[in-house]
Amino acid sequence: MNRELDCFRQYLEYLKLSGINEVFISKDSSELPVLSELQSRYQNCRNCVLNENRIKFVYGEGSERAKLVLIGEGPGHDENVTGRPFVGRAGQLLTKMLQAIQIRREDVYITNVVKCRPPNNRNPFPDEIKACLPYLDEQLAIIKPDFLLLLGKVAASALLNMKLTLAEFRENTHQYKGIKTYVTYHPSALLRNPGWKKFAWIDLQKLRDDYNSI
Ligand code: SF4
Repeated sequence: MNRELDCFRQYLEYLKLSGINEVFISKDSSELPVLSELQSRYQNCRNCVLNENRIKFVYGEGSERAKLVLIGEGPGHDENVTGRPFVGRAGQLLTKMLQAIQIRREDVYITNVVKCRPPNNRNPFPDEIKACLPYLDEQLAIIKPDFLLLLGKVAASALLNMKLTLAEFRENTHQYKGIKTYVTYHPSALLRNPGWKKFAWIDLQKLRDDYNSI
């Protein structure tokens, strides 16, 4: 019990440092809030201008006990309509990529750096990323994954805070909040450039070996 209380205290301290001053208290106060409860709580967020074009808030979905969290840059058209991440053609390819390394989509957690769709699929601006990042950091603090897979240069630049090409990001693994982090192509880029799939396959094999080793 003491360990759980310690964990809860650390979590509250973490939220404070992340700029979140208001917290949801579950009926069972010894448990951390579940992501579905937080999704409902945050769905009308107006912390940046991306709320203006929002049809649906796209918080994320998958296992709250995932060893692996996949992170893209932001929702597209299909995601904005459905409220679910990676459900269009790119999402279907992402599911196949996971299947290729024997990982089921329902066993991972999938989300984005920003939770509302940028107009015309433009890249999110730095102030929008900054406004939305506490939600992602909170998701990671709850899930406590062993690995992150960042999909595309925008997500990698936003979280790793480095100006590198995607090829340079892919050369090494990284750390984000103490979590071992891989970078590969965004599935939309792979749909536009099928010749890059062989490079993504190299990244996925490295991740799979690591994933299976724990
Ligand atoms: S993108 Fe994030 S910070 Fe901006 S309105 Fe949506 S949920 Fe809020």
